[in-house]
Amino acid sequence: MARFTLPRDLYHGKGALEALKTFKGNKAMICVGGGSMKRFGFLDRAEQYLKEAGMEVQLFEGIEPDPSVETVMKGAKAMMEFEPDWIIAMGGGSPIDAAKAMWIKYEYPDITFEDMCKVFGIPALRKKAHFCAISSTSGTATEVTAFSIITDYEKGIKYPIADFEITPDVAIVDPDLAETMPQKLVAHTGMDAMTHAIEAYVSTANCDFTDPLALHAIKMIQNDLVDSYNGDMAKRDSMHNAQCLAGMAFSNALLGIVHSMAHKTGAAFADYGAHIIHGAANAMYLPKVIAFNAKDETAKKRYGDIADFMGLGGDSLDEKVALLIAYLRKMNDDLKIPHCIKNYGADSYPAEQGFVPEEVFLERLPEIAANAILDACTGSNPRQPSQEEMEKLLKCCYYDTEVDF
Ligand SMILES: [Zn+2]
Repeated sequence: MARFTLPRDLYHGKGALEALKTFKGNKAMICVGGGSMKRFGFLDRAEQYLKEAGMEVQLFEGIEPDPSVETVMKGAKAMMEFEPDWIIAMGGGSPIDAAKAMWIKYEYPDITFEDMCKVFGIPALRKKAHFCAISSTSGTATEVTAFSIITDYEKGIKYPIADFEITPDVAIVDPDLAETMPQKLVAHTGMDAMTHAIEAYVSTANCDFTDPLALHAIKMIQNDLVDSYNGDMAKRDSMHNAQCLAGMAFSNALLGIVHSMAHKTGAAFADYGAHIIHGAANAMYLPKVIAFNAKDETAKKRYGDIADFMGLGGDSLDEKVALLIAYLRKMNDDLKIPHCIKNYGADSYPAEQGFVPEEVFLERLPEIAANAILDACTGSNPRQPSQEEMEKLLKCCYYDTEVDF
């Protein structure tokens, strides 16, 4: 038996934020990030709409990018004091992910962070509050997914929390919010969405319900992402839907080792002054992982389907896979994303000398590879890498060398 879970309600289109006026409840806590939602007036509007719905509203502000375990615990404490029956998470992936984890801790005050990270092991939520997610970025699709990523800074590792219990009750997909995204974020979140759709389509957990969502998302991202990056706001709006479709696909079909590697490299070199931003990491690793996975016949056939659906041409399956890889690399060029860690600058742009020194990368490689294999996303990858293969693959992602194994 397989399960397919999405939010019960999804409000979309310009002005969808107003749906908050129709919510029924007593107390809402709005969880937000660093201030862009406030600056652009969306936070005020959300607060006003909830008050119009007759609710008392409290804000939990300042959730940082790549939220920490500490922030989660702090937010949960604020919830325990205020006792909301609605949690309204608003902003990019980070505040929504953090709010999901706070929600678990709020409902179960004794639960530890380690317990939360047990895949599909979260007890039943919604005894205290329902959850609404309003996304302002077009990538993680956390507004519709069963996932949350929290960083343990002591260990330098990003942990995914995965359970259909944390799939929001309501998602608001209002493109007005996405129009506020800075250009670099458009590139990173857009390639994150592309990775979600492609990994979901070739995942061993793919099904008839997830395939159409994944393929349609891929086609939309192909058509819209680069133009959105270059300032086309109609395409920006369209990308907000595309990334959400990709999210619906991967929340149910799961992901693969592009994400395992991105999770485990993301904060691994934070002591050298930067993170490898999630979307950029995915964009760099995706072509390498496609080459690796395509050694599996079923996966190769599926990459061929994707290439056909994108209209890339090619006669043999090998040609189609090569064309898909070339297309994705061209997208990276168009979006100013480097091809490998060696050339990943601290500002995320391509650099002659990236911020991760070669000797540091090589020294940490065995541990990163071992962690990537253990990541929750590895289980649904079409090809299971050994420690040696994962190390080789990560090396290809560092040096931008060809994957021939
Ligand atoms: Zn992702």
